[in-house]
Amino acid sequence: MKVLVPVKRVIDYNVKARVKADQSGVDLANVKMSMNPFDEIAVEEAVRLKEGKEHHAAGTADEIVVVSIGPSQAQETIRTALAMGADRGILIQSDTDLEPLAVAKLLKAVVEEEKPDLVLMGKQAIDGDNNAVGQMLAALLDWPQGTFASKLEIKDGKAVVTREIDGGLQTLASTLPAVVTTDLRLNTPRYASLPNIMKAKKKEIAMKAVADYGVDTAPRLKVLKVTEPPKRSAGIKVADAAELVAKLKSEGVL
Ligand code: AMP
Repeated sequence: MKVLVPVKRVIDYNVKARVKADQSGVDLANVKMSMNPFDEIAVEEAVRLKEGKEHHAAGTADEIVVVSIGPSQAQETIRTALAMGADRGILIQSDTDLEPLAVAKLLKAVVEEEKPDLVLMGKQAIDGDNNAVGQMLAALLDWPQGTFASKLEIKDGKAVVTREIDGGLQTLASTLPAVVTTDLRLNTPRYASLPNIMKAKKKEIAMKAVADYGVDTAPRLKVLKVTEPPKRSAGIKVADAAELVAKLKSEGVL
């Protein structure tokens, strides 16, 4: 089985985002960038499918291809995935942050070329929080989708996906090929070992341009303004539970 994992280079989740003075977006100058955390989970699950870790049978996946759409520095993101155990990478170079529909169209073109049995990707990129590309890609391909996976099993040629939904867990079985998007509890991604980082340097990354795929990536959305979240006002200290209850009552909370 061949698995395609789309990975995005985003602002590191530990960095406090600073909004640009003109409110046009987040200032990314000299900011630490990393692989989107949900995509790390997707890479980890693909590698476990290959290695036969946890509940997966060894060899469920035989090839893992990672693809990123982004600036040339996104090669580092791809290298991280290769060091975790992916086999080869594709970088579609773009210096602008493309909208979900454009990303989904490019990924569809990659899927048509690569013909994977499974696209395993993050449920959302933590920069734009769109939570859209997986669903759009499944729709464009007319493939089944299992979103927010907290468990994935490949059984009898089907993807069995346990999903985190309001009020509980839902288990779906879908035919392959399919798109599966990862939630936080699916796994804990590994750190790449030094020997694997060295080995990853020799793995292939194919360099492509958006124009190679002949898809319309023109923006449909306009950002009006980006602002910082409102600052929290200072709290107060109360002596005991009785004072707390009295305060909540006098402030109309209870
Ligand atoms: P989003 O819909 O933007 O929140 O992204 C959902 C998922 O789509 C991410 O977790 C990635 O797996 C994939 N994705 C989004 N943008 C890109 C990109 N520029 N390159 C590769 N994968 C992407």
